[in-house]
Amino acid sequence: MAGVMQSPIRIEEDEAENIGRIRQLKQQRGESLLILAHHYQRLGVHACGDITGDSYALCKAAANAHKARDIVFCGVRFMVTSAATLCRDDQVVYHPDRNAGCPMADMANLPQVTTSWLDLGEVVDTKSVIPVVYMNSDLDLKSFCGERGGIVCTSSNARKVFDWSFARGHKIFFFPDEHLGRNTANAYGIPRDQIVLWDPKLRFGGLTHQQIANARVILWKGYCHVHTRFDLEMLAKARAEHPGLKVVVHPECQEQVVASADFVGSTGFIQDYVLNRMKPGDKVAIGTEVNMIHRLAVQNPDKLVIPLVRSLCPNMFKISTGDLRDCLENLDTWEPVKADPREKHFAKVALDNMLACAG
Ligand code: SF4
Repeated sequence: MAGVMQSPIRIEEDEAENIGRIRQLKQQRGESLLILAHHYQRLGVHACGDITGDSYALCKAAANAHKARDIVFCGVRFMVTSAATLCRDDQVVYHPDRNAGCPMADMANLPQVTTSWLDLGEVVDTKSVIPVVYMNSDLDLKSFCGERGGIVCTSSNARKVFDWSFARGHKIFFFPDEHLGRNTANAYGIPRDQIVLWDPKLRFGGLTHQQIANARVILWKGYCHVHTRFDLEMLAKARAEHPGLKVVVHPECQEQVVASADFVGSTGFIQDYVLNRMKPGDKVAIGTEVNMIHRLAVQNPDKLVIPLVRSLCPNMFKISTGDLRDCLENLDTWEPVKADPREKHFAKVALDNMLACAG
């Protein structure tokens, strides 16, 4: 079993029983129940998803869930509130563990973004600035963008979102992930001196007026601790230990890691790479969340699929099959996730802009 790595995942003793019960409950509810599961979910939870994917695919699935009345979302909070924004009023969205959040999403909040926008407005005309918010953000920030002619992006459609934004403005104000923004700007061919880092703790982001005026892409100082762990030494070690091995990383990694990798892409891309581009005997080291890599390794024993280093997202790890079972067994009394009506309207505008431009 060349591709099987030692599991970092504690499999609950009653996992099989939980999965059996979940399938039974799904059968009982038929098409009125839809379970969405992100690629970073635990193996057992992922196996229970009616639809699995990256945050863009799941966002689209929620928007297109015509038959389902109840949508159970196994992911982190920003994904669930996005689904609650995009679904119809007669649909209900549930989160098996409301404590599953995202530290990166917490690196930008509405007061900070509003203050930064006002700072920007003292230097340039913000009508020429398009606010672009990563899906990994609270709903009020998506609303902020929608109200100002902006858009949401994910790691699978950032390039198209840059096209959309530069067709409407001269600058992009991108938050909260510096690295996805920087890697996209680099791939877009924006000169380095026109990509600047905005520190929200400092007046004018710590930039000079000249730097702001000259910038095409202004990046918020935020990051994902799961993806910024990867470094060049890890790539070199994996390549030295496994001649012929390819390296595939997620665009939330630091730019030097992305530059040195063979391929970069979203979790949807990474999954497609392993399933469809690799041949038996091929080797890959992946720079993303370890649960997903573990699953791909288990599913592809004829390929070597290893992590650059084991990097776990504790929030994605929170939902177990026990939590999902508990949610489904008590769905009628489970507290639904509702989008704040004040935020929903413009957040939907920004999400719809993304769905329209990214296809
Ligand atoms: S992997 Fe990173 S960006 Fe994704 S949910 Fe975890 S902390 Fe947030």
